[in-house]
Amino acid sequence: MIREQAIAVDGMWAGLVRTRPGTATRWHHHGAYETSIYVASGRIVMESGPAGGAFIEAGPGDFLHVPPGAIQREANPDPEERQIVVVRAGHSPAVINVDGQPQADSCPPAYHPHMNFCPRCGTALIPRLDGGRHRPACPNEGCGFTHYGDHSIGTGAVVFRDDRILLIERRVRERRFWQIPGGYVEVDEPIDSAIEREVLEETGVTARVLDCLGFRHAAGVNAERPASNIYVVFRLEDTGGDPRPDGEESFDARFFTRAEVADLADVTSTSLWAIDQAAPVETGHGFLRLAHRDGLHRPGHTIFGLT
Ligand SMILES: [Zn+2]
Repeated sequence: MIREQAIAVDGMWAGLVRTRPGTATRWHHHGAYETSIYVASGRIVMESGPAGGAFIEAGPGDFLHVPPGAIQREANPDPEERQIVVVRAGHSPAVINVDGQPQADSCPPAYHPHMNFCPRCGTALIPRLDGGRHRPACPNEGCGFTHYGDHSIGTGAVVFRDDRILLIERRVRERRFWQIPGGYVEVDEPIDSAIEREVLEETGVTARVLDCLGFRHAAGVNAERPASNIYVVFRLEDTGGDPRPDGEESFDARFFTRAEVADLADVTSTSLWAIDQAAPVETGHGFLRLAHRDGLHRPGHTIFGLT
C-alpha cells in the first residue's frame, strides 16, 4: 500500500492510496477518524461485522464512508493495482489493528478461477478471506461452499516386458509423440486401480502395481486459470496381453528397448524421467502399498510408503 499525500492540515488528511494486486489487510479500524473513500480505479472488497458478515464491493466512481471505530478488513482481489482517493477527518492514529499485530499490507495473490456461481446451489459467489487470501465463496447460509482451486491427479505407468518398456503414441493437434500410458484419477477411484485401468484401456495390456517411483507437482501453470496437478509414476508388473491402441487416446502401443526409446523422435521428458527412475532401481525399492492396518486406513484410503 502506497499513500501519496496531497493535503495534510490540522484535522484532515487527503491523498491517493495505491494498493498492489492481490493484497489484503488484517482486521483493523481507523480510530476516531471519519473516512471517505473514492474508488478511482480497480475494485475494493471490504468486510465488516462479526466474521466478515457484512460485505461491500465497490468499483470505479463509487464512494464509501467508513465511520469511526468501524472494524473491517479490505482487499484488492484483482491482478491490477487499485487507486483510491482517501480523505480522513478528525484526530486519531491512522490504523489500529484489532489483533495488536503489525499491519500486513500484502498476502499471496488472490486466486482467480473465473468461477462465478456456486456449483452446489447456483448462488453468485463472492470473494471471502480464508486462510490469508480471497477465495470464491457462496454467501448462501447453509451451503458454505468455498472454492479452494482446481487440483487434479494424473498417473503414469512404467511397464516392463523383459527389458522392453510399454509406450503409447498420442496425437494432440499436429503433434505426435510417445509417452508412458496413464491418465487422470477419478475422484472416487483408488489411485492404483486408476493406473491399472488406464494401462488396460490405452494398451490392452494387463498390469499390476508394484511400487510408486515418484511424482511431479505442477502449480499454477496457467496464470489466467491457475490449476495444480500431481502426476504420480508407478512401476507395474506386466501380466499379459498384446499391446494395441484404443484409437481415442492412444494411436499406437508397443514395447521398446531403452535403446529404441532413445531413437524415437519425440518422447515426453516426463516419460524419459519415469523410465530412468525405474530402470536402475530394483523392483520394490519405491514406495510400496502398505497393508491395511487398524486405525490407519479409512474407507477410500490407499497408503504408499517406505516399508
Ligand atoms: Zn452455494
